[in-house]
Amino acid sequence: METVGVIGLGVMGGPMAANLSAGGFDVVGYNRSPAAVHALAARGGRAAGSIADVTQQSDVVITMLPDSPDVESVVLGDDGVLAHAREGLVFIDCSTIRPDVSRTIGELARSAGVRPLDAPVSGGERGAKEASLSIMVGGRAEDFQRAAPVLSAVGKTIVHVGPDGAGQTVKAANQLIVAGNIALVAEAIVLLEASGVDPGPALTVLQGGLAGSRVLDLKGPTMLARDFTPGFRTELHHKDLGIALAAARDAAVALPVTGLVSQLVASVCARGMGSLDHGALLTLVEALAGRDSAG
Ligand code: NAD
Repeated sequence: METVGVIGLGVMGGPMAANLSAGGFDVVGYNRSPAAVHALAARGGRAAGSIADVTQQSDVVITMLPDSPDVESVVLGDDGVLAHAREGLVFIDCSTIRPDVSRTIGELARSAGVRPLDAPVSGGERGAKEASLSIMVGGRAEDFQRAAPVLSAVGKTIVHVGPDGAGQTVKAANQLIVAGNIALVAEAIVLLEASGVDPGPALTVLQGGLAGSRVLDLKGPTMLARDFTPGFRTELHHKDLGIALAAARDAAVALPVTGLVSQLVASVCARGMGSLDHGALLTLVEALAGRDSAG
């Protein structure tokens, strides 16, 4: 049986590890805070005490960590994945990080005899729980083929999109589309409510037309209910929009709508709501429209 190590057992990594275990893999997990490791052990996985412990036991290591510095320290650190990897280890980073960091990690991993893939995901906590994630994979084609059975245990739409870092660039594109959609769903809700139109039936008919989207389907009802339980934290989306704008600078292109939406998301964080679901952008759009409690 193949052993898959998972480092980072949070909102996404926890259910992904549980699905790998349910899919017949021997799963060994590590997380900085131990409660998540105990939760994995209760769902069929094995607990590990360190990054070294996970890496030494694994044929494949997956990281699912918040941001670029976290992945750099876990993978490149003195006691990190590369320091303990055996020749031929497949390393899959599912975190959303900067494409240039993924490219650097890819090069260093290969020179350590490791087979690296950047494989960020989309589909949220629900997609992680249902093993229905979209996975955009950068790296070498033969390593993608090697990792396919593992990725198939956590995702449904799994596409090799190019060399090292390409997965992260596609994810940046994903995140700007999602943020722009949320901002406009928020504006639609504000307009409907301010005009005295019941937004429930309005969103139902919008879902069936050209304005329909996965964002409208999944986020519309929770935004209407002002249920901002994460889900996907606004501060993580703030990070992702920074990645998108940095990638745009590297590619020498202007992304004006992304620029505007990233400032709106920055404002939600500055107003102390970064730990809420990204649907909380509605609170800012309401405030700008003079329709919050202070308005
Ligand atoms: P999270 O904060 O819930 O989970 C991250 C986990 O990593 C935490 O349990 C934390 O304790 C652990 N961790 C952090 N540093 C560590 C270290 N040095 N060693 C071991 N464990 C460490 O975050 P999440 O929502 O699961 O997101 C993870 C990544 O996936 C992020 O890059 C995010 O942008 C991306 N993502 C999230 C979602 C979502 O809906 N939540 C969707 C798609 C992609």
